[in-house]
Amino acid sequence: SCNKGDDKLAMSSDSTDTTKNVSIENKVEELLSKMTLEEKIGQMNQYNGFWDLTGPAPSEGVAAKKYEHLRKGYVGSMLNVRGVEDVMKVQKIAVEETRLGIPLIIGFDVIHGYETLSPIPLAESASWDLKAIERSAEVAAEEAAAAGINWTFAPMVDISRDARWGRVMEGAGEDPFLGSKIAVARINGFQGDDLSDPKTIAACAKHFAGYGFSESGRDYNTVDVGTSTLYNTIFPPFETSTKAGVRTFMNSFNELNGVPATGNKFLQRDILKEKWKFDGFVVSDWGSIAEMIAHGHAKDGKQAAEMAANAGSDMDMESYMYVEELAALVKEGKVDEKLITDAARRILRVKFELGLFDDPYKYCDIDREKATLGKQEIHDAVLDMAQKSVVLLKNENSLLPLKKENQKIAVIGALANDKTSPLGSWRIAAKDETAVSVLEGLKQYNGNQITYAKGADLSTGENTFARELTINTTDKSEFAKAKSVAKNADVVIMVLGEHGFQSGEGRSRTEIGLPGVQQELLEEIYAVNKNIVLVLNNGRPLALPWADENIPAIVEAWHLGTQSGNAIARVLYGDYNPSGKLPMSFPRNVGQLPLYYNYKSTGRPNEPSPGEVFWSHYMDESNTPLYPFGHGLSYSKFVYSDLAINANDADKYITVTFNLKNESKVKGKEVAQLYIQDLFASITRPVKELKGFELVELEAGEQKRIEIKLTKDELGFYDNQGEFIVESGDFKVFVGGSSKTILEDKFNLQWDISQ
Ligand code: BGC
Repeated sequence: SCNKGDDKLAMSSDSTDTTKNVSIENKVEELLSKMTLEEKIGQMNQYNGFWDLTGPAPSEGVAAKKYEHLRKGYVGSMLNVRGVEDVMKVQKIAVEETRLGIPLIIGFDVIHGYETLSPIPLAESASWDLKAIERSAEVAAEEAAAAGINWTFAPMVDISRDARWGRVMEGAGEDPFLGSKIAVARINGFQGDDLSDPKTIAACAKHFAGYGFSESGRDYNTVDVGTSTLYNTIFPPFETSTKAGVRTFMNSFNELNGVPATGNKFLQRDILKEKWKFDGFVVSDWGSIAEMIAHGHAKDGKQAAEMAANAGSDMDMESYMYVEELAALVKEGKVDEKLITDAARRILRVKFELGLFDDPYKYCDIDREKATLGKQEIHDAVLDMAQKSVVLLKNENSLLPLKKENQKIAVIGALANDKTSPLGSWRIAAKDETAVSVLEGLKQYNGNQITYAKGADLSTGENTFARELTINTTDKSEFAKAKSVAKNADVVIMVLGEHGFQSGEGRSRTEIGLPGVQQELLEEIYAVNKNIVLVLNNGRPLALPWADENIPAIVEAWHLGTQSGNAIARVLYGDYNPSGKLPMSFPRNVGQLPLYYNYKSTGRPNEPSPGEVFWSHYMDESNTPLYPFGHGLSYSKFVYSDLAINANDADKYITVTFNLKNESKVKGKEVAQLYIQDLFASITRPVKELKGFELVELEAGEQKRIEIKLTKDELGFYDNQGEFIVESGDFKVFVGGSSKTILEDKFNLQWDISQ
């Protein structure tokens, strides 16, 4: 199956292969020296999968042109070609039919798995479990690599504070510290220790930069942020990604402070390539080079290509602008050929690192593909990840865990027996109906004690990624049946929330309660049976004040992927003791957005005297979230005490220690969190900033002394020139199980400025 067919390649790499120890850099330079301008530009051109690969090559239209370009060596990469058979077909053309036989790099959105899906990234982030997240990315890479893919457009490391933005599902939430740690875990998982290992794929930090700050949470919208936010909130996960060795970056659809990210030299050259010394390549977002015309920045495609190339966008995803315009621009002196060579160099470098020149078909093994996709080990890893992603938001009257015997359970809700929605957005290679539903999961425990009624539909019509969803807001004809089922149960499990395609790209919302008639259904069921466990399936924070006030138990189960129902059942029945913590604040009301824990103080008191009007607040809603960042309960009870700070070795680190005790009869895990506040600074600092956390497992009754070290890097910040500074002065330290911390203390530091 794995026909080498590399005559052309052998020809071109003859001299390089004889000297085994020549570095990749030398090989890249040698190849570059043989390339025409058009061939270099070809490396910078990426096409979407373009014809039905089972049929004959097309003879006319766009597909025919792309095919011709592929044969000429004018295509460096393709995306959305997947499966060994199809990847082989395009790779063979690149390797056997082009002059230099340069293999393609094959990109795909492996966002939370390939065919077997992990939880959506926001959900995984709720685990705060870096090992599990790394493992999840590792099995995703293994499965995708077996299907011919060698490059994923992940992780998305955009920080976002606005739950209206549908793409929060794809990121790690609102915090740059947590976001940076998770970015590294994902990159390490995808790329492994050695990119030439055929089980690993190149990763891509996206979208550079500012996409998470799209105004009003409306996708693709304007981004206008100041220097302090840019350097201290938006940049850190990107900079950390470069330090972790991420091989590619993707730029962004949005403009940043007036200049589209794709044509933004400050971002791509000054910051990324010069300041951070990134030596991989930058791919544009889909068509984003051409979009600069609509942005009102480039007057036509030619100028867009000029701006993007000069700004440092190395590869054109599906705009056709580079392949059509760049050669002429070089000849006219508008783009320096050196920049073209630099872009091609970066792309070739990654191809060499992937080992594609040694064996362009190393990702094309049909037997490996068959043996890998959907194998048990991958399911085990995604189940593990799924249960760790669940966040117990509320649990009164010990309603949870459920009893395994003598408990009659009613299962209600549009999402209760849904086998597709839990897959979430970004699941191009996964088949519909392949998730374990909550109902299926629960029945394994308590089959004959369970009754089910849908209650209401969530959406109607065709639910595909490329189409707007139709939400059914009116039909209540099944309420009566659901109520009678609920009446006869000891406990009602209601599975409500968002359809899998209600979050994701292009899925912004201005109402973030329960869509459709679900809120009404919840209230009507509550009227007949108050013992409700509300299980939420969603891709963004929701605002559910009524549920919080009335429903005794609430479980945030996101879109958990293929093993969803199994993970949820294990948590509900106590076979997994929930340990997740929210990576984003949950608001009370959409009008509070953007809402985040690490806000700045105003000149007015945070808690004014009674009757005070002139302070920073709303007349009709509190400033606080419904559930704060970092919040999440357990079936265990954790108690924090005895905080101590040792600043004697301040030049190296500050040591923070405290006791954590499990004061319950069940073993459990707690994410102990450490926050700081730099009380007075030249650039004002947030009221709290996460600077450390530890996932601690404790037996019933066990106590441990936890130690977290703070380094100088964690006590400093970026000034408005983008320089990192650490200032002397007073700091507060806070510790607890959420950003609503429990213990606090202070320390004072006088840094030796000479250091
Ligand atoms: C998204 C990217 C994605 C690309 C390719 C774009 O619409 O913004 O995140 O990687 O499509 O599918």
